Amino acid sequence: MLEVNFRDGLAKVASWEPKAKQKVRTPAVLYLTSSRAALFPGAEAMVLGPGAPLVEAGEGPVLIDDGSDGADIPAGASCPSYLADFVKDSSGTSSKDGRILVVGPRPPEKVPDTVEVAVAGNIAGLLGDPKRLVPFMTALRSSVGYGRLILAPNAGEPAHMALLAYLGVDLFGSLPLALAARQGDLLFPDGRYDANEAWTARLCHCPACTARSKEKAGPEADYASALMHNYHAALQECRTVRHAISRSTIRELVEARVRSEPWLVAAMRELDLRHFETFERYLPICKPFLIACSRESLHRPEVARFQMRFREWYARPPSAKVLLLLPCSARKPYSRSPTHRAIAGAVDACKAPHMVHKVVVTSPLGIVPMDLERFYPANCYDIAVTGDWDTPEVKMIQEGLGHLFKNGNYSAVVSYIGGMPFLAEAVEAHRRAIMLKPEDPRKKDDLASLTSALDGIFENIGVDGAQGQPARRKAEDMASFARFQFGPGGEALVDKVAFSSGHLKLFKGGKQTGALTEDRGLISLTMEGGETVKGLGRHVVEIEDFEPTGTIFAVGVKGASKEIRPGDDVAVVRKGELAGVGVAVMGGPEMAERRAGRRGAAVELRHRRRSTG
Ligand SMILES: [Zn+2]
Repeated sequence: MLEVNFRDGLAKVASWEPKAKQKVRTPAVLYLTSSRAALFPGAEAMVLGPGAPLVEAGEGPVLIDDGSDGADIPAGASCPSYLADFVKDSSGTSSKDGRILVVGPRPPEKVPDTVEVAVAGNIAGLLGDPKRLVPFMTALRSSVGYGRLILAPNAGEPAHMALLAYLGVDLFGSLPLALAARQGDLLFPDGRYDANEAWTARLCHCPACTARSKEKAGPEADYASALMHNYHAALQECRTVRHAISRSTIRELVEARVRSEPWLVAAMRELDLRHFETFERYLPICKPFLIACSRESLHRPEVARFQMRFREWYARPPSAKVLLLLPCSARKPYSRSPTHRAIAGAVDACKAPHMVHKVVVTSPLGIVPMDLERFYPANCYDIAVTGDWDTPEVKMIQEGLGHLFKNGNYSAVVSYIGGMPFLAEAVEAHRRAIMLKPEDPRKKDDLASLTSALDGIFENIGVDGAQGQPARRKAEDMASFARFQFGPGGEALVDKVAFSSGHLKLFKGGKQTGALTEDRGLISLTMEGGETVKGLGRHVVEIEDFEPTGTIFAVGVKGASKEIRPGDDVAVVRKGELAGVGVAVMGGPEMAERRAGRRGAAVELRHRRRSTG
């Protein structure tokens, strides 16, 4: 039995019951216990190899107990000996009960329904080789689906764990920990250290290092101490990884951890640049925050998805004919910052504020129209700001601007940003462009020159002054947001907005279609809105013929749009009729994995319609 509790891209936290009444929370380390590998009392999960000592109840679940005799641990072999019975040729060999499948160098095309764990026996040969490791892991995940565990028996060094979990490994082995101890190395999340050096420098306070006595030192005693240290270090790091996944910060942890070995950085880049599509399918639509502290943050999937939607789905509000480029602010959403409030005052003082399209130029997102400022990650990202712009950032911003100019068809462009000289070329290429370089964007003189620059433009292009235009613009901004969330056609959800009871509410033809939920940074649909979304054919979950109540479980899902991401608002359809609206717990591709014995919630309903028949 397996149930996924938290999802963050390919990384997940799950509860697995390998045997009745035994529960393992993943990611976890499977500690091998045999006549040659000492029992680790702290183990959360164990594999009993040959000659294993008797395991007391409460020592942690035992996962594999094949009872074979005389086997050894061949260091560096493609698959550990305790799995030798399962590995005959290469792919598709499974355990007797069919729950564990050992896969070979190529992921299997078809996986039997009974399989709960896929064993990547060849993983050791792929560590250090990002060009092979990353394609293998993404292909393996696509092959076995999201609702199964991947065990990498020959991987589990603390410094590799965050990245490997990020690539989809759910279970690690303890063999690399023993191997490092034999080599006289202590493992830490930031890499490996010579054991004697580490002990002399008193680097570690784990129980093994604390208990070690100099008097009793010798090759075997040192090995035993190093092994127990490595066991503790792996357990500690595995818990850190698990915690990071459950609080949606696994990417931040990965960016910090990969610094110890160049191939780890290369693997992260490989995933970002060449396997984004597979990864993005499983990435939640919104999270509590995004911290961009490295060059690689520019390419992280959350950022790439925002930019992809900007290129493919975004359309500017129709009334917003004058583009106004603005700097970002530390506070999010931008409009709450003192700078943006001052700028809003200057814009509101011009002749036609409803015709001004405020767009923020920033890193790592590039271009953020203010109508999207509440969408993740625009609503919460944080980045180190020095005022210096790297070449990749400049390129990203120039490309974003190029796209905005080409598709926006603006009547005029005003730039109100100091310290970004690289904007000039793109901006001045427009036939009606004004570059203002405010010393301090909040200074009265600068703000006054912004108002007069805008008024000068309106004298030239004229003001669309039809009645109700400012109110219409507010609806257009929300319609643009809806399109960004639900894709082209999503704008049909809104022709009017109103603020009441602390919420921005969306209306179409006088009926409420949804409300903006600030903490999610998403529109929450009403049943009326659900009808519109159903009509779009995207963000739709089709269920079997039953009366849905609070939670719709995966087993009751018949089909789901491939665009749905965990956290998305969806329309639930039964027999062609709207049955409810709610929040997707799984992404569409995961919902669509159909097999017997599936567990877990697929959708949490917000509203539902009782059937009449
Ligand atoms: Zn230690």
